[in-house]
Amino acid sequence: MEYTKALADLIEEFNKFPGVGPKSAQRMAFALLKKSNEQNQRFLEVARRAKNEIKQCSVCFNLSSDDICEICTDTKRQDNLICVVEEVKDLIAIEKTKEFRGKYHVLGGLISPLDGISSADLNVEALLERIKSYFNNLNAEGLSGADIQGLHSSKNLSLLNVNDNFENKHNAEDQPLKDPLELVFAISPSTEGEATMLFLKKMIGKLDHSDQIIMSRLAYGLPLGADLDYADELTIVKALEARVSLVI
Ligand SMILES: [Zn+2]
Repeated sequence: MEYTKALADLIEEFNKFPGVGPKSAQRMAFALLKKSNEQNQRFLEVARRAKNEIKQCSVCFNLSSDDICEICTDTKRQDNLICVVEEVKDLIAIEKTKEFRGKYHVLGGLISPLDGISSADLNVEALLERIKSYFNNLNAEGLSGADIQGLHSSKNLSLLNVNDNFENKHNAEDQPLKDPLELVFAISPSTEGEATMLFLKKMIGKLDHSDQIIMSRLAYGLPLGADLDYADELTIVKALEARVSLVI
């Protein structure tokens, strides 16, 4: 027996959601049919309202009910520290730690030639423009910007492994960078993630003031509380590469 057209269409629509396979789509469709008309009406109304009222922040592409999101308008957050993430859910994961006090930039995906996703499909141009405006604003307003020493000692960066880029660049010049901007790539270490980070690094390196930009990435490592023999080989290799010295 085949489903009626209306039910088959409903299952197909649920099946289009990420992570929802045919079986789950079928369960969701039947669950919806069991609900009262009022309950279904409410479900449709909530979905419609969310779609109408939630928009993308015009600065960082976070989801927001206003043109510019709460994070971008928060004056207590550092303008010179931008965490670049793949999706809004990654931003939320970092926000939950309550440790990061910079701002964000949501790429909206990762470069993936196999899936036909190029940098033009992501919010890359907007990031480059944002970096340019950061320095233009500094020049226009004659601000001194943040002191790298303050940035370095900031507790807010305690969960981020900024050491390599930070120390090398800082020590090499032996004096604080003027008006530095730090970009933290909090992107998954997949093939697509690596390709995206390399691309961004190259594009950012070509910008004016690139000598005042510090790029860092989250450290790879073992999950806290996990047994070593449960970790996959790549995680162990990356954890070894990102090892930290013990202070005696
Ligand atoms: Zn924003």
